[in-house]
Amino acid sequence: MNATSKMKKIKLMESMDKETLDATGDNKDISDLTFKKFIIDSLPVAVVAVRPDLKITSFNPWAEEMTGYSAEEAMGRYCGEILQGGMCKTDCPLRTVINRQKPIVRVESTITNKYGETMPVSMNTAGLFDNDGKLIGGLEAFQDISYLKTLEREKANLISMIAHDMKSSLVIMGGFLLRLLNKGADIAEEKQHKYLEIIKKEGNKLEFLVNDFLEFSRLQTGKLKLNFSATSLDEILLELFEAYQPGSIQRGLKLELKNENVLPIIEADADRLRRVFTNLLDNALKFSKEKGTITITTQETDQDIIVSVIDEGIGIDPRDVPYIFDSFHRGQDKGKREGYGLGLAVVKAIVEGHGGRILVESELDKGSVFSVVLPKDRKKEIYPLSNNE
Ligand code: ADP
Repeated sequence: MNATSKMKKIKLMESMDKETLDATGDNKDISDLTFKKFIIDSLPVAVVAVRPDLKITSFNPWAEEMTGYSAEEAMGRYCGEILQGGMCKTDCPLRTVINRQKPIVRVESTITNKYGETMPVSMNTAGLFDNDGKLIGGLEAFQDISYLKTLEREKANLISMIAHDMKSSLVIMGGFLLRLLNKGADIAEEKQHKYLEIIKKEGNKLEFLVNDFLEFSRLQTGKLKLNFSATSLDEILLELFEAYQPGSIQRGLKLELKNENVLPIIEADADRLRRVFTNLLDNALKFSKEKGTITITTQETDQDIIVSVIDEGIGIDPRDVPYIFDSFHRGQDKGKREGYGLGLAVVKAIVEGHGGRILVESELDKGSVFSVVLPKDRKKEIYPLSNNE
């Protein structure tokens, strides 16, 4: 919003407030009111005030943003006309608070904006009273919860996908095992080997899935316990580099480990950190383009050790960046790739359990850099997650 329209808005607010105050005979300091309005305008929540007859007297910038109506357009009109809420016609929350049936109403409902788009919202509605307790109107504050609703739906979908994937791995494993058991002697050695390879691959897939899920449920229940001991990040990274190199070559990718300086030994949970870097490397491989390079770098600052996993892959859509560490969040191209949106949530929890941070920089079509920042000296009193102290 530019300065002129902001001034215009504050003026409008003042006139609205004068109108409300005139109606009640109150005589407060207008500059105090302007300040309060300024606060309401700055809230990342849509706020709409109405008179007892449900005509709008205040409409903050977030309300404009969400409904598509400007404050000028909304002012003086019935709120139901502007919000087109899912409960307006049947169970209007404002009417409920204004009629004093309830002091506050909290509901999830919908609103439909000027362009006919309906979105889910969480709403808090309260009556507005003056100093003498006289009703002067009602107030409705609401937030768009489309993202939460999508996440809830995705969570339900993903849980059924996980169960389905587990079942299909088990069915494949069971089928090949049965063949080997029943007809093992008649099957050529080469074929037997191939069957065993398939069983191993499906077993690994299951193990990975179950691990992610277990880690995730530990996270959810706050039971993620870290076992701290003297840990060499150089050793962990070298081990992972050697483990990942054959798979990377097979996929036509180059994997590099750039850790010229020896890193100090830190107090950490080595197994959990292995999981952090495994998840980051798996993603780097999964989202790489053909012939890309994946680089692991290490750096040391006064306070921290920074390990970065850099890929030249598809990058992350800016719309996804704020959410990629949320559990069950998967990127815009989710249809095309395997995954349950748990890996990065697990990474974040483990890194934060170490008193560290996880950072991401990404550019669509160019690649991503995930940096794990771990403090060299763990402050035990702040991160008391260990169960061996
Ligand atoms: P998933 O198992 O679905 O990959 P993650 O939690 O590991 O779950 O990642 C969440 C989302 O973040 C992915 O669906 C993807 O959109 C994005 N993402 C993670 N790492 C990368 C990467 N290296 N390059 C591009 N996108 C990534």
